[in-house]
Amino acid sequence: MQSSYDAIVVGAGPAGGQCARELAKNGKKVLLVEKSKDFSVNNYSSGGAPAEMLGDYSLPRDVLGTMWNKIALFTSTQRHYWGDEKYAGVVFDFMKLRAFLAQEVTQQGSELLLDHSYHHHEVDHGKTYVYLRNMHKQDILKVEAAVIVDATGAERKVLQNGKFEKKEAVAATGVEYLVEVKSEDYQRYAKTLSFFLGLKWMPQGYAWIFPMEENRLKIGVVRYFAHDMVVPHELSYRHYIERMLKECLQGDAKILDTHGKTMYYFEGQNEPRYEGNIVAIGDAISTLNPMASEGIRHAMYSGRMAARRIVDYLKGDNQSFFKYSKEMDKYFGFRWKTSEYLMNCMYRETKDEQLERYAQSFKKLSFDEMLQFTFQYKLKTVAKFFWNYFILDFGKKS
Ligand SMILES: Cc1cc2nc3c(=O)[nH]c(=O)nc-3n(C[C@H](O)[C@H](O)[C@H](O)COP(=O)(O)OP(=O)(O)OC[C@H]3O[C@@H](n4cnc5c(N)ncnc54)[C@H](O)[C@@H]3O)c2cc1C
Repeated sequence: MQSSYDAIVVGAGPAGGQCARELAKNGKKVLLVEKSKDFSVNNYSSGGAPAEMLGDYSLPRDVLGTMWNKIALFTSTQRHYWGDEKYAGVVFDFMKLRAFLAQEVTQQGSELLLDHSYHHHEVDHGKTYVYLRNMHKQDILKVEAAVIVDATGAERKVLQNGKFEKKEAVAATGVEYLVEVKSEDYQRYAKTLSFFLGLKWMPQGYAWIFPMEENRLKIGVVRYFAHDMVVPHELSYRHYIERMLKECLQGDAKILDTHGKTMYYFEGQNEPRYEGNIVAIGDAISTLNPMASEGIRHAMYSGRMAARRIVDYLKGDNQSFFKYSKEMDKYFGFRWKTSEYLMNCMYRETKDEQLERYAQSFKKLSFDEMLQFTFQYKLKTVAKFFWNYFILDFGKKS
């Protein structure tokens, strides 16, 4: 291990992995630090994403669980399918994706340090030193860095020192089971992203079933806590997942793994993105989409853009990350505002009747429009969705 690096990237999730990978490819000396002992730990994400990610980020197929070409929406009383012959998306194996990004870093001659956690940093005689703690021994490593990247996700450990106001954020808690099922049950959900909207499935949120690989499904629920949002619900997440196991599968399911995480999203993304030579990326700056909880793609995008600005910074061209922050505003901007609005409408509903109306409005969208709605957050499609919604209301009243 060296005593000094161009950049220390803290957190080897999709954001940190992608940022470190791009810096290493640009010939920078990078140390990618991760507190987990390996990538099987913290393997919490369902990994659903659009197919273009493979090309956009040069990802190999072996980081995938499977691919999908259908979307299904279930409510308490109805179900609807959209689809095409062509694959529209992927389900990542989150462990393999993160391991691949880290491997690309080391293959470029940079370093990965697992089992070490960011402790603190200090500036001494104009030099920045980062202190990293071994997770098992009490040893502390001191390493110099020109730039520090905060890619610690929901924990926001570096730029905000983990001390952000949780009460000011929208908290979204996701819990997921990886289950082994009978072939007939797998086939029912294969090649499909299935979403469940309705008080029966998850009040104040939604549930899903994603295919992972042959005879393995990911079954999860997410509940949003936005300020005053309180829809009556059973207390345990387990209650809802077990209902899914009971009502959505015909055969037995063997639970292989259970995982989950609480993510914090700041509406308006109004949190710091940089300070001096520290730049934050991914969930640490609310890149997660607030409506769909899709975060991998956007975390990687922020990692890519930060890497570009860090290269400029190291050249001495640009001594502020203001431009990076502006680029983030441009990318997220209005689309994230629209998603916040949708989140506040949909996950606040206390009546199934209203949620059924949302489902009816979705039904009027084509498969392409569903993809635009779910992954591109296109204003035109969102407007069409709301038009359908209000027409239904008008039809009911007249
Ligand atoms: C149940 C669930 C399902 C989801 N499903 C999807 C999905 O289908 N599709 C999708 O696109 N998104 C999904 N998401 C969201 C997505 O996984 C996240 O938005 C994305 O992983 C964020 O990437 P990140 O790199 O910013 O943060 P993370 O993936 O959280 O990575 C942060 C890393 O930093 C490390 N770290 C934290 N603190 C320290 C420290 N002090 N020192 C060293 N390392 C540290 C952590 O161990 C972690 O590895 C889901 C989320 C949940 C909870």
